[in-house]
This record gives sequence, structure tokens and C-alpha cells, in this order.
Amino acid sequence: METILNKLLSSTSGNDAFNQQTLAGAGMDGECRKELEAQWARVCDRLRKEIGDKAFKTWFGEVELGEVKAGKVRLYAPTRFVRDWVSRHYGDRVLAYWQSVNKEVTSVEVNLVPPPAPRRASDVIAMPPVPVPPSFQQPMPRLGPSIGRGSDDAFQGPEARYTFANFVVGKPNEFAYAAARNIAEQDHPLPERNPLYIFGGVGLGKTHLMHAIWHVIRERDPKTRVLYLTAESFVNRFITALRTKNTGQFKELFRNVDVLMVDDVQFICGKEASQDEFFFTFNSLVEQNKQIVLSSEKPPSELQDIEERMRSRLGSGLVADIHSSTYELRLSIIQTKAEHARVPVPMNVLEFLAHKISTNIRELEGALNRVVAHGQLIGREITVEMAQDVLHDLLRQADRKVTVDEIQQRVAAHYNIKLAEMSSPRRARAVARPRQVAMYLAKQLTTLSLPQIGKRFGNRDHTTVMHAVRKIEELKISDLSIAEDVELLKRQLQG
Ligand code: ADP
Ligand code: MG
Repeated sequence: METILNKLLSSTSGNDAFNQQTLAGAGMDGECRKELEAQWARVCDRLRKEIGDKAFKTWFGEVELGEVKAGKVRLYAPTRFVRDWVSRHYGDRVLAYWQSVNKEVTSVEVNLVPPPAPRRASDVIAMPPVPVPPSFQQPMPRLGPSIGRGSDDAFQGPEARYTFANFVVGKPNEFAYAAARNIAEQDHPLPERNPLYIFGGVGLGKTHLMHAIWHVIRERDPKTRVLYLTAESFVNRFITALRTKNTGQFKELFRNVDVLMVDDVQFICGKEASQDEFFFTFNSLVEQNKQIVLSSEKPPSELQDIEERMRSRLGSGLVADIHSSTYELRLSIIQTKAEHARVPVPMNVLEFLAHKISTNIRELEGALNRVVAHGQLIGREITVEMAQDVLHDLLRQADRKVTVDEIQQRVAAHYNIKLAEMSSPRRARAVARPRQVAMYLAKQLTTLSLPQIGKRFGNRDHTTVMHAVRKIEELKISDLSIAEDVELLKRQLQG
């Protein structure tokens, strides 16, 4: 007698009469389809109860219901791996559960999602209504302005100037640079270096390195399919795909990719469904020995709101950090940039900038550009005084280096509460109000983002910080004593 397992395994090839349309249920009687979906939902419920949420999501989260034909139910798995795994490990149970809700079902088959109809190379970018990025085949397709709304949707290929040659290497970034070069120049991905995970603060060159990797890979073999997107774009596309029930197309985007680069993966934190989808995409590519490159502002261990399996996956390859820049590195970067400027910039001005603007390279570059533009447009000689004048807002910000620690200490002392209350979960007014004042001051006096501030106050959500900022702004108008407190604290901190 043919076992269920055999039935499942023997049915994993060939899509015969099944095509993209039957997958979507077109041509099926509406009632029938609904009934089938209801049965599938019940089977899923029971499976989830039995194997747990996590395993269910991992293996069945991506499995789609196909059709039923002469007692044969057909399911679609997104990859071979999932197909085989589900068949082998869960095939019996799926069938048993299905038979318990519908006796007429005699077998359940798991197939690979059928490939969509062939498209012309130039079509790869347009699959309305979900705008998808170019698959970056040569010649690089250019996205027309009609496609895409977000900045990344209009991604036009790598930035030409973000090359290894233009990347200035110093102590803080030499490891990340070497790792990136290594990945770009390798012939085959090595499991121990997959994924490459580059992390470091804002504006320290992560995106630059990713684009540089791309340039080299494409120079080495123009046929390599490299897909670069931001995690934000990944999430947005995924949400749109869910909304428009187009997840098949979404997955298709990743299917033939040789190298996947996802920038700013910290964006995926706290977004559960997208995280699962990402985990899944990630696994299936690694399994096919495709290189993955990720960037993040945080090391995997410090990412918040992320599933453990995801965290360990992210850190399972090569993790390379970019430290905050040193004066020497900043000076050498800005010297390089100044060489390309239209007007000469004296060395003491470059030193001044590298000394004063230490937060990130992007700001430093911006400052140089402003100074050069002023010099050129107004015809002013570029001097340190002139730079001071042109950049006064930026420099003021750079000068007042108030830290969250200082703010918390001052505020706690002012209101006579324990420093620990700044991070405690207690909501009593006596501690909650000073905490709000401190959050407000952190927003005013530091360059940290709301989520970053929230983190420093006992891992609070950015919405809590936003609420605190608004509340104190209101109170400053309605409550004179709060207004005075805030002003006093501000003066003390800045003085
Ligand atoms: P991140 O992605 O880490 O926020 P970017 O890669 O966007 O930062 O870098 C910000 C700007 O600083 C870019 O214009 C980049 O070219 C420049 N930059 C950063 N690090 C370097 C470096 N080591 N050499 C040259 N330019 C750099
Ligand atoms: Mg970046």
C-alpha cells in the first residue's frame, strides 16, 4: 500500500494542470474555495496547537493553499527545502487533520510554487500594484519616476562614488572594509562568512561599503544578480504584498538572486510578520549558498524586539563593526573629499572641521560642502572664521555635548529622586514627571532619536518619549513651576 509519505514525496514535481491561476483559486467555484479555505484554516489551527507557534510559522507561514481535485489537496511551498521538510515531517499530520475535517480528502501534496509566466528582462521592475526594485540585471534597468513612491522604491542602482577606492581606511573601519572586500572578491560564499553583517553608527560608511561590494561583484561578473534594498523597503513591500494578496510576486523577487543586500536591518525589529518573512527569505537563500550582506546600526546582540532564532541567524556569519571615527580618520576622509572640491580648501580649515564635527562622516561631508558652496557662490575666501560663521548652527550643536547620563543625574538630583527611577517601570507621578522632564531634555539637548532615548530610559518605546516631549511642552505653558524647572536644568546642563 502506498503510504501517505510516499504520496507526499512522489508528488513534489510537475505542476501539470496547476498554474498560477489555480493557485489563486481562479476558476474554482467561489463557495467551494471558501469551504476549502475554511478547512485549511482548521488544519492550520490544529497544527499550530500541536507544533507551537514558532515551528508553525517557520514551516507553514509560507505555505499556500492550492486546489483540491478528486480528493487530492495541493499545497504550495515557496522553496524546495520547505516543500521537502513539510512533506517529510508534517505530511502525515496534515493529511490526518484534513481527513478529520473532510473525509473525502485522500491525499495532500506539497508542491513548489509554480514559476510565473516568463517575463522580458525589462519587465522585472514592474509588477503593479506592488512596485518592486530592479533585479539589477545588466544593463541596469532604470526605474521611471512613475514607479515607486518611497526613496528606496526609486532606487537607481548603486551610487557611483561609493567604491572601495573612495573609501578611506583607518583603524575604526579597517575590519569592516577588509570583510566587505573579501566578500566582494570571493568566488563562492563561505558558510562561516555568510551573512556578512556590518554594523556601526549613523553615517559611518555602511551603505558606502555595501554599494562598493556591489560594484566589485558586478565588475567581476556582470551577470551576477545583486539585489540591494533597505529593510524599510523590504517591510513596505511585504506589507503591500499582504494587502494586495501578492505574496507570490514578493517572493519571486528574491528567488533568482545571487547576492542579497539588506541595509539597516534594525528597521525590521519589532515587526513580527516582516521578520518572519525575512527570516524565511534569508534561510532559503543561505541554503542555496547565496551570499547575504546586511547592515545595521547595532550588533545582533543589541537588537531589540527580535526573535532569538533571527538574532542567532544574523550573527551566524561574519560580524564586522565600524567604530566611531577618530580625528585622524576624519581628517583623512575630508582631505580626500576636498581634493574633489571645485575650490581649494586650506588645511587648517579641514583640521578645524575634522576636529569640530565628530558625530558622523555624513555631517562632516555636509559641512565641507557648505563651506565650499559659500566660498564659491559668494566668493568668500575659505578660512576658519568663515567656516565658523557658515556652520554656526552645526557647531553649536556639536559644542553642546550633553549626555543622557548627565541629564538623568541632574534631573534626578533636582527632583530628589533616585537615579534608578529614570529607568524604572514605576508610573507614580512623583517619578514619572521628572522622567518626562529628562526625556524632554534629552530630546532637546542631544541628537539622539526618540527610540534611542526610549532605550536609555528603561527600554521604553519611542511613543512614550514622544508623549513625554509633548506633555512637557504643554506643561511649560500651563505650569510655571515646570517651565522654570526646565529652564534651570537646561542652563545647568549647557553651562
Ligand atoms: P551609513 O550607511 O553608515 O549611515 P553612509 O555609508 O551613508 O553611512 O556614509 C555617509 C557618508 O559618509 C557617505 O557619503 C560616505 O561616502 C561617507 N563616508 C563614510 N565613511 C567613509 C570613509 N571611510 N571614506 C570615505 N567616505 C566615507
Ligand atoms: Mg546607510
